[in-house]
Amino acid sequence: MKTLSVGNANVDLLLYVEEPPACGAQVEACLFEKRPGGAASNFAVAAAKLGVSSSILCCVGSDSEGDWLLRELEACGVETSLVAHVEAPTGFVVIVVDKRGERSMIAFRGANALLAQAVRSLNSSLKADWVHVASVKPDTAEAALAIAKSLGCNTSYDPGSLVAKVGLRQLEDVFRFVDVLFLNEFEAATLMAVDYEEMDHVFEKVPVTVVKMGSKGSRAAAEGCWIEAPAFPVEAVDTTGAGDAFDAGFVFAYASGLSLREALIFANACGALKVTRRGSQASPSLSEVINFLKERGFEALASKLLMSSESFNRKAMDR
Ligand code: ADP
Repeated sequence: MKTLSVGNANVDLLLYVEEPPACGAQVEACLFEKRPGGAASNFAVAAAKLGVSSSILCCVGSDSEGDWLLRELEACGVETSLVAHVEAPTGFVVIVVDKRGERSMIAFRGANALLAQAVRSLNSSLKADWVHVASVKPDTAEAALAIAKSLGCNTSYDPGSLVAKVGLRQLEDVFRFVDVLFLNEFEAATLMAVDYEEMDHVFEKVPVTVVKMGSKGSRAAAEGCWIEAPAFPVEAVDTTGAGDAFDAGFVFAYASGLSLREALIFANACGALKVTRRGSQASPSLSEVINFLKERGFEALASKLLMSSESFNRKAMDR
């Protein structure tokens, strides 16, 4: 299986605190880390760790931080030939993580603001079975997903919290090109005041809608039915990037031929393992997820996933 992830790549500056500061207050951070991040970059790394042939289309600055991000992506096995070096500084995000693992963020978009130009360079030479667009505004997402669909790819879109605020109407045009829509609970609430009956109607244009619900797990709607899978209880230290690890897990499992429920369970395991570790790209490898599922009584699902993904990868290599 080959995935292309389209969206942001950032330098994450992580500050770990007991409690985030109130307005006008100052708090001490007990730990500071600089890590690669950005939703599309996180997804690309998470997919590569699951054994998927993973590439990324994003923009970085022609600066040392941009070079560093590329080296980090390549070290994780992500193919970077579609990355654009642009005349703007590489994007930064300051992330404050509290003692419960919950985070607040301040983003400087920088080079990411020029993604629309890079998307225009996508053409028929694109080699991917699945194109995932993450945290990208609707018009740019629509352009990328329309190209992907015209080339016969499966697609997913995770609009992210800022985009959810633009409202459903602006997203409806994008939905025409989306096979799987990912939202978290906050985004779903912002879009339609969390009336799941309403969502059946609203998302009739999207074959599968997945709602990620943090420590409560996830649910998915397809053909008017909701399926739910509870989260795996774990001790969360950092929830940054959990949604991206979840998305990559879901795409991997669903494209490998697992049912919707099985894909949710697999994706929940990816998200749960991620939150036990620091950093937005600390997503698990395939063998870590398989072992985790086995330890929690999902041996049959783990074996089925291994068999399905092997045969799926064989078919993809034959193509
Ligand atoms: P996002 O990062 O997009 O806001 P969530 O916070 O809902 O998404 O996390 C994505 C998935 O990761 C959840 O659906 C769940 O499967 C898993 N997850 C997140 N937080 C926890 C937690 N505290 N315990 C167990 N699993 C979690």
